[in-house]
This record gives sequence, C-alpha cells and structure tokens, in this order.
Amino acid sequence: MKTLKGTGIAKGLAFGKATYIKGIKYEIPAHSISKEQSAAELAMFHEALGKSRLELQDYLQADHISDSEKEILGTHLEIVNDPDLKEQITQAITQDLHNVAKAINLSFEKAILFFKSMENEMFSQRAIDFEDVRKRILHKVLLQEHDSFAELDADSIPIFSEISPSEVSLLRKHNVRAYLASGIGQTSHVGILSRALNIGCVSNLEDQQLIQEGDYIIVDGENSLVIWQPNDEALEYFAQSLQIEDLILQKEERLKDIESSTKDGRQIDIALNIGLPLEIDQVQELGSNGVGLFRTEFLFLDGDHLPTEEEQYQVYSEMAAKIAPKPITIRTFDLGGDKISHLIHSPHEDNPNLGNRGIRYCLTHSQILRTQLRAILRAAVHGNIRIMFPMIIDVDDFLEAKRILMRCADDLYDEKAKYNAEIPVGSMIEVPSAALSSCALARECDFLSIGTNDLVQYTLAVDRNNEAVSRYFIQHHPAVLMLIRATLINAARHNTPVSICGEMASTKEYIPLLIGMGVKELSVNSAVYYEVKSVVRNCDAKLHMIVKNFDFSTSLPKVDELVYRTLKPYYSSDRRDSNDSL
Ligand code: PEP
Ligand code: MG
Repeated sequence: MKTLKGTGIAKGLAFGKATYIKGIKYEIPAHSISKEQSAAELAMFHEALGKSRLELQDYLQADHISDSEKEILGTHLEIVNDPDLKEQITQAITQDLHNVAKAINLSFEKAILFFKSMENEMFSQRAIDFEDVRKRILHKVLLQEHDSFAELDADSIPIFSEISPSEVSLLRKHNVRAYLASGIGQTSHVGILSRALNIGCVSNLEDQQLIQEGDYIIVDGENSLVIWQPNDEALEYFAQSLQIEDLILQKEERLKDIESSTKDGRQIDIALNIGLPLEIDQVQELGSNGVGLFRTEFLFLDGDHLPTEEEQYQVYSEMAAKIAPKPITIRTFDLGGDKISHLIHSPHEDNPNLGNRGIRYCLTHSQILRTQLRAILRAAVHGNIRIMFPMIIDVDDFLEAKRILMRCADDLYDEKAKYNAEIPVGSMIEVPSAALSSCALARECDFLSIGTNDLVQYTLAVDRNNEAVSRYFIQHHPAVLMLIRATLINAARHNTPVSICGEMASTKEYIPLLIGMGVKELSVNSAVYYEVKSVVRNCDAKLHMIVKNFDFSTSLPKVDELVYRTLKPYYSSDRRDSNDSL
C-alpha cells in the first residue's frame, strides 16, 4: 500500500481498478476483415466521406471567412472529392480486405509521403492538407466504430493522459465515479464539468507510474490523494468516509426549503451553473433560484453534426418549461480557448484564449449564432429564459450581438413563428475591459454576470489551464476585486442586477467577502450549492462594515487578512444553523 499525493480537482471518493485510457486520436485500429464485412466497412467510409464533405461546405459558407481560410478549405474539399483517393480506399477495403480505418490511413499515408518527399514548400503544404483531411475523415469513422470507454463500468477508475470536456460527460454515461488525469487546472472546463457531474478527479499524481493496469486504488478527490493497493485499514477508512458522505447529504437536504438570506435578512439568490441539459433536474432537487449560467457549448462537444435550430429549440424549451417560472440564463456558445469542438473548423491559433473565442467567434460565424438565437427566442415562449453573451469586451460588442438578436426576432415575426422577444439580455463581465466599461454595459444590458474564471485569467495574465502558473491564479487578488467592485458600483447606478457565476462564487471562503462587497446573486456548481447556502445563512451585517470601506489598492497580504476577517465569524459559537459547518 502507498498513499500518493496529487491535486484534487473534484470531490468524490471511489474504490476500483485502475484502467489506462489511450486517446482515440492516436489509436487507429488496423486489422483484416472478411469479404462479407467489406460492404459494411465501405458504407462506413462513404458515410464519413459524406459528413466530411458537408462539414467543409458548411464552413465555406460561414460569414466573414477570410480568403486564406477559403483557399485552405477549398483544397480540403478537393481532397475529399478526389476520385483517385476514393478508388484507392475502396480497393483497400474490398480487395485488400483492410478495415476502414486502416484503409483510409494507408491510402492517405502514401499521398502524404509522396508530397513530403518533394523539397518544395508548396508540396510540403500539400502534405499538411492531406494530413488534416485524413484526421477529419478518420475522426468520423473512429467515432462510429470505436468507443474507448466501452470497457468502463462503475468499478473502473480510468486514468487519462489527456481528457476533453465531452469525454467527461461520457464518463457519466458509464457510471464512472472518479478518474485520474494530468495537467487539469481548477477552473478548466474539464474541472468544472467533473465537479458539476460529481465525478471525483485527482490530477498530476506523484509516482503515478507505480499504478499498473488493474491495480486496486482508492481515489479521494477531496483530500487530493490516491491510495494504491489499499490494505484492510485503508478500506475501512474508505467505507467510513462513504458513510460520512451520506450523513452530510442528509444534513444538507434540511437546507432545501429554508430561505437563502443572511442573518440580517438580506436575500441572496443562489442559482446553478450547468453544462448539460440533464443537470436541469438539480434545480428542483436542490431548490435553487433557477439557472444562472447554462454553458451551451457542451452541446457542441458531442455528436456528429452542429446542433440544428430544431434540436436546440427542443433542448431549451424542455429545460425552461421544467423549471418555469424560475429563470434559466442561456449563454450563447463560448467556443474557443479550451473548448474546441470537432464540429467546427478552427484554424490553429498561437493564443487561443486571446483569439477567436466566445462572442468573437459567433460574430464572425453569425449563422451559428443566428441558429442558436432563433431557437432561444422560440423556446422563450415556454419559460423564463434570459440570454447572455460571453467574452464581451465593451458596449459595442454587446450592441452588435444584440442587433443580431433583434434581426432574428424580426425574421421570426415575418415567418409568423411563435417566439418571445421580451426576454432579458445580458453580458458576461469576464474581460477586464468589460469591467472597466461596466457603466456603459450596465446602461444597455438587462443584467450582468461576472465570470471570475476568465476575469482572473485576463487580469493577471495567467492561463487558467496551466498548472505551471497556477500559483498566480489568485481569485481574490486586489486587482480582480477592484474590477468586481467597479462593476457592482456601476451596475447599482443603473439598477442593473449583477450575479457572480465564476468559480469564486462556488468557493466558500469567498462568499462572505462577496456578500460584504454587495453581491446579491450567486450562480454556483450544484455540488457546492448547500455549502454555499449554509455560508450565506451565517453571514451578517458586520461583513458590510468590514468590507465597505476597504481600500483594494493594496497588497495581497492585506486582502488575505480581509478574507480571513470576513470568514472569522463562522468559527464563533453563535451559529445560525447549528448543523451547518464550513
Ligand atoms: C468564467 O469565465 O468565470 C465563466 C463563468 O465562464 P467559463 O468558465 O465558461 O469560461
Ligand atoms: Mg468565461
């Protein structure tokens, strides 16, 4: 037995067999097939080819596509339509009896090697184009024939070298309770989703090489550790911890029907952050104030085609109807950064977090945005929906997005469709320039929502997904707090409601500070909902006195002290809910 330390990303306790997962991207199944199987393999090839063709045609029709992008995509379409290549792959399947992935791989390999062997820049570029198209077609085939999680069950603890948000959602389907991975930051989307789905996660485990395939391990996300080959004593600890978890759950449920207000009677609305439609049920289960952030980009991370207007309409209207009259804030797609979808063409960017992300991507591919906005406007007939735009940098950005929304409403009117254009429209405040422009934004928006994950990333120039700089990811840095305070003050001037939806709101240590600063709405992960509510119920008027006049143009240690002072009351004995604990 040995205890291995790592970084706890998501709470969760599980005991099971270590199962190493190899990325499907790099594993191309290669085997022979029988003559009878060749027809099915050939059909798979045709389907993958057709999907790739459609996808490329869609990208080519996107708005504002640059000439150079057009040229590249046009070349890729030519390769997809290349009759010689198609013939070669067909022969490799029907005559050489290779499975479809191997046939595609080998046929492309020949072309790639041919172009690579020519010492001419134009030809080496051609090799890159072939490589790109090979990946596109293979990806479609591999998704059809290869589920790398097929072997997983509730007794498996998968170990990844790399994991994407869509793979996290797949883990849930396989009833996985915890997993290990490398290089995951606390506020990465993989981390956020794992916490939302209650799947334990420990990242960057020391001495991970000790763990062999099939070894028994205990993963304890809360305590950031893994017990390798646990002895009887450790298994006893595991069993007891599970019982304690059950007790905590029972205690938390008692918080469901009581008010979310501070001791001095200030109402604090707590809504949920969700990323998957099925999480909507948590609103009623926990008794939250609706959904403060629905990260719709997760609809893009799965599946084999862009979600259509009809599909999105079904999803949004069902979710809104389920929790009506409670509100659901639907954030338009925030693709880019670490949320890369295989369904959209994203040219390589050296700095994706500073690149074509969020509203920027949507404004340059307005057909994708229009499809989503039309679906939301139609769904708003069935419930209390609010729209929010991500990565807005200033009021002009917001107004441009809003104009597109208004045009969608006009189109729906002309089409005599049922829709509701009287819905609140708001902006995320997650870029420092947006916080500094919050006066103008508060005037134009129906509400604001502060995304502290990106606000910290962009204010402190610290990649939220890079473990190597995680010590700079200081959510309560005075510079960040000054931007939050500026936003709260500007919003108050215009009577515009503000919520905090970044991970800061889900971190119990910061709740008193935020409430002391005047925050009245929080949007948090379902896993910490009761914990946050419990802290809120123990906050009192003293906080306001401590924080109100605090000068944030100060050093970090002074703010550390402030966080400690605002937290201190929870360690005193006059607790409002004697069963609540931090
Ligand atoms: C944020 O940036 O704080 C936020 C809520 O958005 P996301 O984490 O999805 O980028
Ligand atoms: Mg963000």
